[in-house]
Amino acid sequence: MSDSAVSVSVSQVLSSLGIADALLPGAWAGAALDLLGDGVIESRNPADGSVIGRVSPCTDEQYEVVVARAQAQFERWRLIPAPRRGEIVRQMAEGFRKHKVALGHLVSLEVGKVASEGAGEVQETIDIADFAVGLSRQLYGLAMHSERPGHRMYEQWHPLGLISVITAFNFPNAVWAWNALLACVCGDGVVWKPSHKAPLTAIATHRICEEVLAAHGFSGLFGLVIGKNRAHAEKMIRDHRFPLVSATGSTNMGRHIGTVVAERFGRSLLELGGNNAIIVTKDADLDLALRGITFGAVGTAGQRCTSTRRVYLQESIAAEFTARLVKAYGQVRIGDPLQPGTLMGPLIDNDAVRCFEEAIITAVAQGGRVLCGGKRIDRPGSYVEPTIIAIQEGMAIVKEETFAPILYVGTFKTLDDAIRMQNDVPQGLSSSIFTTNFQSAEQFLSAVGSDCGIANVNIGTSGAEIGGAFGGDKETGGGREAGSDCWKQYMRRQTCTLNYSKELPLAQGVNFDI
Ligand code: NAD
Repeated sequence: MSDSAVSVSVSQVLSSLGIADALLPGAWAGAALDLLGDGVIESRNPADGSVIGRVSPCTDEQYEVVVARAQAQFERWRLIPAPRRGEIVRQMAEGFRKHKVALGHLVSLEVGKVASEGAGEVQETIDIADFAVGLSRQLYGLAMHSERPGHRMYEQWHPLGLISVITAFNFPNAVWAWNALLACVCGDGVVWKPSHKAPLTAIATHRICEEVLAAHGFSGLFGLVIGKNRAHAEKMIRDHRFPLVSATGSTNMGRHIGTVVAERFGRSLLELGGNNAIIVTKDADLDLALRGITFGAVGTAGQRCTSTRRVYLQESIAAEFTARLVKAYGQVRIGDPLQPGTLMGPLIDNDAVRCFEEAIITAVAQGGRVLCGGKRIDRPGSYVEPTIIAIQEGMAIVKEETFAPILYVGTFKTLDDAIRMQNDVPQGLSSSIFTTNFQSAEQFLSAVGSDCGIANVNIGTSGAEIGGAFGGDKETGGGREAGSDCWKQYMRRQTCTLNYSKELPLAQGVNFDI
């Protein structure tokens, strides 16, 4: 595909998604509401820096309208039987299936993911929608045996209320869906504050769902609030109408949001930075390890929370395997994300390139050795070379998450050492071991093994399935989203005890006879 073919597809993509008006300065605003605000947010294609859309940000007055409308719709929505809510989410899934290709392209255009990853992100939204449909018939509570005769005890789950969803730029569609579609079958309303770096994907995603909701009389149950700065996020996290704030982004952001929401006794669900390592033992299938590491570290240009940032190699295989890794890096096709065959696109913007350059300078100053890459690529857009740096133990920079394709490679003697080094970072999201040794695998997965929320064997750190609970501990924030029983966070639990006897026995055998 030529450059001009790619630029034509910008307008094709936007019009097929029904948001071509976003191309006109100030022509679109307020998501569900066609209201105009001051100032304009420009959505730029990181592959060449061109402006692909302009969006008017939401004003304070519009924020009030969006939240009040979602609140009013929630009051009705919570009374709809959950399986019926599931049917409406099923129709949203159909909308995402219909628009998968165009929406995937828009993800690529806005945040620079290669085409298959853009489409993969939308597939994740379809998967979680399907999961939510099934879940809508399985919002089970437990029944317990009461200690008192003639009593019945059980718990039930009620809709929680309005959920605030704040998302990062790097998953501009799926992370919202993980939250919103589960919250929706749970009976909640949702107001979304997307990253200002990916407003068009948010608008398109929102419109697909809004069309379905409107057809069923629930227009505005999902609200969208796009702002140029953090003012709306600040408002939301202090707003008592949101009993739950689900926030995905950097650890600094999460520290602030977690504190503010806790002060008002709200709940927060935090999905923050990762610093994910892969351990490769001497008996590992090295072909598998090579593929797992390369995709994990270079895929999405290192801009996944689960990207592989560190590799620990057992000493006896380290030299040869590192040489293979460097060779594989030399074969990565870097370029326009929508060109067929491209494996690595650009970073999101020039600030990200600066962070990449600074991290490399710091790593070298701390004793790291650049084995390949290390530079910005001289072409339009925010491109950098995928980089491998040999490290020594104790380098401070290795404990930080740099959101770029930098891979730190170290060595270990024993598995105990490897696990200790892997865990010795503030973050706790994803982790892997490549090994064919049963005992090594089990040690890695044991209570004294990986301290991360995700622990894989013979699979890389990135690319989780939606069926499991996704998230991590320590400075990753402790939140869990998507599958398993994560739906419970979008509901409130109520324990009910019914007395069908003619007595009033007290719990724990307490006497209080008057
Ligand atoms: P970011 O923290 O800059 O922004 C994330 C969102 O939070 C944006 O919508 C932003 O406007 C908002 N925000 C930022 N600071 C805020 C503040 N002080 N108060 C209120 N809102 C604030 O992150 P980013 O650069 O968009 O995304 C990259 C980061 O997100 C990385 O650290 C990555 O690991 C993390 N991330 C984590 C997960 C996960 O599931 N653990 C998933 C995706 C991304």
